[in-house]
Amino acid sequence: MTITDAREHLDDAARDWLDNVHGTGSGPTFEVLDPGTGRILAELSAATESDVNHAVEAARAAFEDGRWSERDADHREEVLLRLAQLVERDFELLVTIEALDTGKPRAEAWYDIKEVIGVLRYYAGWCTKATGTTIPAPRQYFAVTLRGPVGVCAAITPWNYPLPILMYKLAPALAFGNSFIAKPSELAPLSALHFVRLCAEAGVPDDVVTVLTGAGSTGAALAAHPGLDKIAFTGSTRTGRAIAHAAAERPTRVSLELGGKSPNIVFASADLEAAADGVALGIWTNAGQVCVAGSRLLVERSIHDRFVDLLAERTDAMVLGHSLDPEAQIGPMISAAQRTNAENVVASALDDGAVAVTGGRALAGPGFFLEPTMLTGLATDHPVSQEEIFGPVLVVDTFDTEREAVAKGNATAYGLAAGVWTGRAGQGQRMARGLSSGTVWINAYGVFHPTLPFGGTKASGYGRELGESAVEAYTEITTVVEDLSAGEGDDHD
Ligand code: NAD
Repeated sequence: MTITDAREHLDDAARDWLDNVHGTGSGPTFEVLDPGTGRILAELSAATESDVNHAVEAARAAFEDGRWSERDADHREEVLLRLAQLVERDFELLVTIEALDTGKPRAEAWYDIKEVIGVLRYYAGWCTKATGTTIPAPRQYFAVTLRGPVGVCAAITPWNYPLPILMYKLAPALAFGNSFIAKPSELAPLSALHFVRLCAEAGVPDDVVTVLTGAGSTGAALAAHPGLDKIAFTGSTRTGRAIAHAAAERPTRVSLELGGKSPNIVFASADLEAAADGVALGIWTNAGQVCVAGSRLLVERSIHDRFVDLLAERTDAMVLGHSLDPEAQIGPMISAAQRTNAENVVASALDDGAVAVTGGRALAGPGFFLEPTMLTGLATDHPVSQEEIFGPVLVVDTFDTEREAVAKGNATAYGLAAGVWTGRAGQGQRMARGLSSGTVWINAYGVFHPTLPFGGTKASGYGRELGESAVEAYTEITTVVEDLSAGEGDDHD
């Protein structure tokens, strides 16, 4: 099904929504494109430095006067649960907006918005469960920790999972009483603009959640602002470095969720059909534009040809299409520039002797589509085997022993995620101990859940989101010590 103008396929609610969406800044406008057609979805105003200043001051005032930070925990829980209900009410609209804005098939966006609801409910539960402790200090003293909010938190987020990644930060920040400023990606800011309306409807007070629209300069102004207590960033390693530099000028907490070049490691003992399904899912989901994309396949040498055939069968059968095409399994890349970059990378690999077992070409016609491309014959240290491409490109490499699989698994600058496919008891757990990776999936890939801490090592960043880790990330503890000996001896019994 060829879609050249997504608007013709929208219901009235989604069309009205797009006609009435505005940016939140006073600066020049920028265009938000449908990557499936290259047409403009919306034009939004960008937030300037002065808009950023105003947002931080207002968030600070809201934090200081206690309109949210001093509300009872069970009140915050109620509001978060109401927010989850409102996302459920607007579910179809949010799925459509998210799919159109990112280009991903609607079926994938469906899971993303389900995940948003799950994360809100999970942190609603934490509002009343994050506690301080009583500490066994010397008996003369009574020592406890009090747990409170951090203050004004900012999030700068990427375009590939706009609302879920925002929610990993926003839900725990709200749960524990913080004020929050979001700067979504200029490439896919629309779902955040709807969500901020839902915050108001759910009863989040004014200026407690703010969305600033704009590109890198808006993000840079926010990251450099001295009035923030915390910055949570998800995006490329290059931008992460710039943000960490800006924040180092003052004592602001920073967490960085950055890029990856994650290995999917397949042993000959594995269930190869299941492994081929998992490896395909791990790289072709969201057209490979996933931080945890399993973009390096390490396969035991004895099964290399057979496994590559299994994967090629699955890859060749996949349908590329527009996000609103119900048959689509792989969407476009996010932008013309990103696609050109991926095409150049593939061309350089082919020049250096790689073989494209599948794909390799951009599709003619509207949208920024690139065929899912599987490359064999590249050395482990070739730049294409080392650098994040952030597109539908998989590099295949081999190994002979478990030790070599660990060494090759670790042989990039990144350490975000890894998959291990094995039929031997204990092998996956042994591999997990050797891999420098924030997450290791064994006979599975890409499993996310609100309960599971997520983050990277090495060039993939630091800090963890989700699960109990977010309690530390979005709260501050105060240690309170009282000398109990002061009144000793006053008792005249
Ligand atoms: P990006 O780094 O280009 O942009 C991310 C955000 O940073 C955007 O909001 C952008 O406007 C902003 N930004 C750009 N320059 C800035 C600057 N100088 N100062 C402050 N903010 C700035 O990343 P992207 O292309 O949107 O996303 C893709 C990248 O994100 C990939 O590298 C991917 O691996 C990574 N990612 C990581 C995770 C994770 O959890 N580890 C998840 C998703 C994506």
